[in-house]
Amino acid sequence: MTITPNQTPSALNFECETGNYHTFCPISCVAWLYQKIEDSFFLVIGTKTCGYFLQNAMGVMIFAEPRYAMAELEEGDISAKLSDYEELKRLCLQIKRDRNPSVIVWIGTCTTEIIKMDLEGLAPKLEAEIGIPIVTARANGLDYAFTQGEDTVLAAMAHKCPKEAPKAEAEKEERNAISKLMNFGKKKEEVKQTEAEYKDHTPLVLFGSLPDPVVTNLTLELKKQGIKVAGWLPSKRFTELPVIEEGYYTCGVNPFLSRTATTLMRRRKTKLIGAPFPIGPDGTRAWIEKICSVLNIEPQGLEEREAQIWENLEDYIKLIRGKSVFFMGDNLLEVSLARFLIRCGMTCPEIGIPYMDKRYQKAELELLEKTCNEMGVALPNIVEKPDNYNQLQRIKELQPDLVITGMAHANPLEARGINTKWSVEFTFAQIHGFTNARDILELATRPMRRNNNLKELGWEKLVKEEAQV
Ligand code: SF4
Repeated sequence: MTITPNQTPSALNFECETGNYHTFCPISCVAWLYQKIEDSFFLVIGTKTCGYFLQNAMGVMIFAEPRYAMAELEEGDISAKLSDYEELKRLCLQIKRDRNPSVIVWIGTCTTEIIKMDLEGLAPKLEAEIGIPIVTARANGLDYAFTQGEDTVLAAMAHKCPKEAPKAEAEKEERNAISKLMNFGKKKEEVKQTEAEYKDHTPLVLFGSLPDPVVTNLTLELKKQGIKVAGWLPSKRFTELPVIEEGYYTCGVNPFLSRTATTLMRRRKTKLIGAPFPIGPDGTRAWIEKICSVLNIEPQGLEEREAQIWENLEDYIKLIRGKSVFFMGDNLLEVSLARFLIRCGMTCPEIGIPYMDKRYQKAELELLEKTCNEMGVALPNIVEKPDNYNQLQRIKELQPDLVITGMAHANPLEARGINTKWSVEFTFAQIHGFTNARDILELATRPMRRNNNLKELGWEKLVKEEAQV
């Protein structure tokens, strides 16, 4: 039998290009992690290049006295005329004096890699000397892309989670900040009664940094099923990192956390629940269902819940149904977002993605395939390490209705009459859980709504004729 070229492939097609693409440097994770972990301080050990990037990428946040700083390397550091240990000690003591954090996170950069500065070796020594825990993460542009920075930090932090439940009452209370939050304002008897609402299961720890309202939201969703979240990595404070004992279940909330997942499995001996990610109502339902099935719990009322959310989204879905979306790829959320948008009725010819861990994303990829089959659309091409130049040629050919891309290409594409959405916004917006599905569509449809309003002006293509070179 011969395969005709226009036949829809039955399995997802993976390609790999040159890795010549735009993305944020992973050190950008300090921007959201210092806000999430309130008693932390992030020290990025790099050069002015890194400093310039952070200063510009973080926008107005840099005027709010952030708890991050650059340890800017000088000529003397590079040629080893100065002692790395003494220099770092001087800076960390200054941080201790001025901010007194509960943890200092060292972020290694390209330069510290190339000159082979032994941050992991220096940290324990200095930690003992100054009396503040030091976490070392190599979130550099040589090895990683954008959100993977968080992955390296969380993987390093997983080592600092306590191994067994604290004995002292006071500490027990401090560690269990989530249940404290859930039980806020309740009397003791009421708390006891709430405890009875939970089913009996092996403790579950979730990992991934999310804004506090989203953490509460997802914790409550699981509570509705009788599942108790024993803790989150990271927690609001470093001193509240969850206890992780051997045999605990862990589950990720974001697609870029594969190193953290591996560390939790291999080093902390936990059991990973491989589920699709709780992005969009379909993803959230699949995520909860998977957790329920592993914990042997019958899920309640999820179907109705999902249906009701879809109903509320109809006004947005009307705008995108039957349209096509092209992901250039820069933040690793692409597969989950594409799966949700395809469920909304869009088609997707290409999903670019910086790095694809097929094992960690297995359940998500399966859900993508299932969604495409159910919606009767062709399976997208998944292009790992994309080449932006080639992608632009493909965009020119395909003329998609929406391109999700970085700022470097957004304006040039708009000027050529192609709707674009800046991909970074998906990283900072609240997109997890049932209730935030509206926010994803608000972002995705914004350029279409705006350009529809401006259509009458007849100015959608404002580039001069192509230069003849
Ligand atoms: S890519 Fe390397 S040099 Fe550039 S900002 Fe990131 S860590 Fe610094």
